[in-house]
Amino acid sequence: MTIIRPLLGSGSSSLLLVSRAANAGSSAVFARRMISSTTARSMATPEPSKGSETYQTPDYLRPPPTPRSPPLSIHLESDIDPYHGGPSAIEKAANLFFFTEIVRGMWIVMEQFFRPPYTIMYPFEKGPLSPRFRGEHALRRYPSGEERCIACKLCEAICPAQAITIESEARLDGSRRTTRYDIDMTKCIYCGFCQEACPVDAIVETQNQEFSTETREELLYNKEKLLANGDRAEAEIAANLHADHVYR
Ligand code: SF4
Ligand code: SF4
Repeated sequence: MTIIRPLLGSGSSSLLLVSRAANAGSSAVFARRMISSTTARSMATPEPSKGSETYQTPDYLRPPPTPRSPPLSIHLESDIDPYHGGPSAIEKAANLFFFTEIVRGMWIVMEQFFRPPYTIMYPFEKGPLSPRFRGEHALRRYPSGEERCIACKLCEAICPAQAITIESEARLDGSRRTTRYDIDMTKCIYCGFCQEACPVDAIVETQNQEFSTETREELLYNKEKLLANGDRAEAEIAANLHADHVYR
């Protein structure tokens, strides 16, 4: 045994020598057990060398650091007190004794009593409307009475709701005019694209918003209805277009 033990730590050559020695005597089984246990131990945990003082644990085997606790100052009562800096007990008692809250409430009531009202008596009173307001449609004429529309069908093409239907034919003088101009006002979404697309400002949207009807058929506008709308509101339409022309 004294011969075998120093040979155990020196690799595969020592294994061969130990095996031969073990075959010669009755301690062969014990020698093999010593070899196998020593080799496994040296592979699992490296032993510190004689010169080093202590064995250092690798970083990946150390437990993660515990998170820091929040600063103690936020737990102070003054930081979480919702009434900190509010009125004192004497101020509260004075407000209660002299009914100051009731006086302030009555003052607000008096202010509102002498102010002009925010509401209007619709339909007898009406609020202001923008020149760009998009209401009921109308077809315009020139001052000579001639229709502006030249049947280019740009408004029909651009209408996203496909609410406009136009038919046209050439006149004897060669000009082209519409023979049919229909707008289905139940389809219209009042986007204003038709007005923007028209090159001669023929189709416009007026500021009239009071054209509700009792039947759906009354909202299927034809050319005569649209021209009548334009004749009735021409002055208003011209003023709105003039007010907005610098932005177009
Ligand atoms: S306002 Fe819009 S949806 Fe209505 S007819 Fe003109 S383009 Fe069509
Ligand atoms: S209303 Fe204007 S856009 Fe529409 S067909 Fe007549 S000219 Fe063209």
